[in-house]
Amino acid sequence: MANHSVDTLVIGAGPTGLGAAKRLNQLNQGPWALVEASPEAGGLASTDVTQEGFLFDVGGHVIFSHYAYFDDVIHEALPAKDDWYEHQRISFIRTHGVWVPYPLQNNISVLPVKEQVECINGMIDAQELRIRAKEAPKDFDEWIMRMMGEGLANVFMRPYNFKVWAYPTTEMQCKWLGERVAAPSLKMAVANTLNKKVAGNWGPNATFKFPARDGTGGIWKAVAKTLPKDKTHYSTTVTKIDGKGHKAHLKDGSTISYKKLVSTMGVDFLIKQLDADAEDLSLLKKATEGLKQSTTHVIGIGLRGELPSRIGDKCWLYFPEDDSPFYRATIFSNYSPYNCPPKDAKLSTLQYADPSKGKPDSTAKGGPYWSLMMEVSESPVKPVDLQKIVAQTIQGCINVELCKPEDEIVSIYHRAFNPGYPTPSLGRDAALAAILPVLENKYDILSRGRFGSWKYEVGNQDHSFMLGVEAVDKALFGSPEVTLETPDFVNGRRNTERRLTKA
Ligand SMILES: Cc1cc2nc3c(=O)[nH]c(=O)nc-3n(C[C@H](O)[C@H](O)[C@H](O)COP(=O)(O)OP(=O)(O)OC[C@H]3O[C@@H](n4cnc5c(N)ncnc54)[C@H](O)[C@@H]3O)c2cc1C
Repeated sequence: MANHSVDTLVIGAGPTGLGAAKRLNQLNQGPWALVEASPEAGGLASTDVTQEGFLFDVGGHVIFSHYAYFDDVIHEALPAKDDWYEHQRISFIRTHGVWVPYPLQNNISVLPVKEQVECINGMIDAQELRIRAKEAPKDFDEWIMRMMGEGLANVFMRPYNFKVWAYPTTEMQCKWLGERVAAPSLKMAVANTLNKKVAGNWGPNATFKFPARDGTGGIWKAVAKTLPKDKTHYSTTVTKIDGKGHKAHLKDGSTISYKKLVSTMGVDFLIKQLDADAEDLSLLKKATEGLKQSTTHVIGIGLRGELPSRIGDKCWLYFPEDDSPFYRATIFSNYSPYNCPPKDAKLSTLQYADPSKGKPDSTAKGGPYWSLMMEVSESPVKPVDLQKIVAQTIQGCINVELCKPEDEIVSIYHRAFNPGYPTPSLGRDAALAAILPVLENKYDILSRGRFGSWKYEVGNQDHSFMLGVEAVDKALFGSPEVTLETPDFVNGRRNTERRLTKA
């Protein structure tokens, strides 16, 4: 690429970068460019296809939009009715050998009596704790004890959250939960338990949409297509940022000068690449030590056969216990039939789910097919054995009755995404308070996105997209960034002030 100069440069074509680019394109207030290291858009919201033709997202991706502008953009990109499937959210927790409808605290009637008693006792103690508490809980564990009590903490919250985050709940803060998570109703829990009643709190209209073709990544490729080709540069990696000179250096040796930079790469990587005042750099590097993250391993399996009736229309399932390495499994073939190869595709069996059942006949045979997608977290305090994780995951699927030992596996997928989850660690907010204003006020760099601004609570696709949109409004007009600054507000109500058709 030849050296050039723009008003606003965007790094990254994940949801955040695409949000920034979409807004820049809509406003048309000066030259801009987007550069993305990968050949295609999507970032962590991409989809891989195995050689056998099974699609796998980067773990379970479901859109739960808080923004009309975001809705406008994805519907502009995929406008047809048959671009989407609509599903009822059907979600369970696997514990004590049973499937408990989500959320567990409303459905403890399904648990064995010993655990029912422990959960209810804990909820009574938690009420006491809440009445007596003079200060906000100091960490996530204290929050759990106060909101749910020891019983629910031990049955679900502690083991499940360790499996998801790969850090103990005592090493996590609780401000990220905001005010949106209410304490479960003790009266409802007792009534449901005595009446042996199951009460999922998702009403009949709790639905979600999933793209028919190309998985979650298909959404972002379609959004990217709505942007001008001459301003969006793929397979273009930024290797160094000259903070004072307002210049991004690219891998091919060329440079792009900018007035404002919206960077969506991990803020820790950005700081490593930044050339700035020595004093600032030392402060920024020190501050990044307060940021923690975990790796997400996505393990997918494609299976031959009809979808078993025990799985039915389940969407995603949670696993707090240690009989499986994964915290969540998604029945990915339930989201779209195009997530699997067609029935007439002839595939060989790679292995039986339980390899001790012997070596399968390698003749290629037809379907139908279905698929499972599992997520396993990893961190320095929760290591993963890379040589064994796939076998352990498949064994875990048998242990929790997702698979039968004799099931024929025709495709296996494993990819580690590092980073996968931005940890709401105890030191996170102080680190961000030290980093983001220096980058912005001294160097005109707005670092935004799942790892650009490191806030899990506003790190989903809709949030990330709007972080990009709002960063552009801030860069151009000085507007406040509601998503970055007030996660509780955006998660609490719909933000309807912007529409795609009215700038
Ligand atoms: C396991 C998992 C489950 C999730 N589940 C959901 C869900 O259910 N619902 C939901 O809405 N969201 C979900 N998300 C979140 C969703 O994936 C993110 O919101 C989104 O991908 C973050 O977008 P981003 O643009 O901030 O970052 P990214 O997607 O990470 O994009 C950053 C981009 O910057 C590029 N880049 C980095 N460095 C450079 C460089 N030096 N030069 C050029 N380009 C560079 C990268 O290649 C990448 O494309 C999930 C994420 C994970 C990991």
